[in-house]
Amino acid sequence: MKAIQVWNATKEYENSVIALNKVNYSFEYGKTYTVTGESGAGKTTLLGAIASFIPLSSGEIFIDGEPISNFDSKESAMLRRHTIGYVFQSYLLNPRLTALENVVLPMLSEKKRYSECANTAARLLEEVGLSGKENEFPYHLSGGEQQRVSIARALANSPRIILADEPTGNLDEENESKIFRIMKGFSDAGKCVIIVSHSKESEDYADEILNLKHGVLVDR
Ligand code: ADP
Repeated sequence: MKAIQVWNATKEYENSVIALNKVNYSFEYGKTYTVTGESGAGKTTLLGAIASFIPLSSGEIFIDGEPISNFDSKESAMLRRHTIGYVFQSYLLNPRLTALENVVLPMLSEKKRYSECANTAARLLEEVGLSGKENEFPYHLSGGEQQRVSIARALANSPRIILADEPTGNLDEENESKIFRIMKGFSDAGKCVIIVSHSKESEDYADEILNLKHGVLVDR
C-alpha cells in the first residue's frame, strides 16, 4: 500500500540552490528504502520535505493520499507526532532525562497517565535491546545505545512511517548492523522506513535503493 507519494517535488532555497528538482517517487508500507547520494545531493531536504519541516517550492507530497502542502502548523505537528517518526544522526536526546524519560517525553501531551507512558517506553526500549538501561542518562550510554534510545523515542506514538537521516553516521560497524536490523524489523512489521545513508551495509537491508544526484533521482 502506498505510504508516501512524492510528485514533481522541487525545492529551491533562498540562495537559489535547487536541492530537489522534479523528484517523483512512491514509497510503500512494508518496505525499507535507502537514499544514497553525495553530500549536497538533496537527501536531507527530501526527508525534511516528507516530514513537512521543509516546504517545497513546487510539487506535492501526499501522505496516505493526503497532500501535505496545505497543512497548517498544527496539522504539520500532528503529522510529525503521530504519523512520522524521525531519527537524527546526532540522536538529540535530552541529557537531563533518563533513557526512559526521553522516550516518554513525546507521549506526554497525549493526555495519557505517566505510568501508561512509562510502560510503553519500557516496552519500546526492550524492543531496541535496551532492557535494563531505562534509568541511565545519555552520557552513561554508548553512541549505539543512545541511537537506539532515539529510535525508541521515534516510535513513541506508533508512527507508520520512519525517517532516519544518517542514523549510523557516528557508529561503528557492529552498532550499524544492529540499527539497520532494527529498522528492517519495522518494515517487516508493515511500516514504511526511509534511511538516508552512505553506508554500503544499509543497501543490504533495503528493499529499494534511491540515488540522488544534484537534486535529481538517477539510476545507479
Ligand atoms: P544532503 O543531505 O544530500 O547532503 P541537503 O539536502 O542537505 O543535501 O542539501 C542540498 C543542497 O541544498 C546543498 O547544496 C545545500 O548546501 C543546500 N541547502 C540545504 N539547506 C539549505 C538552506 N537551509 N538554505 C540554503 N541552502 C541549503
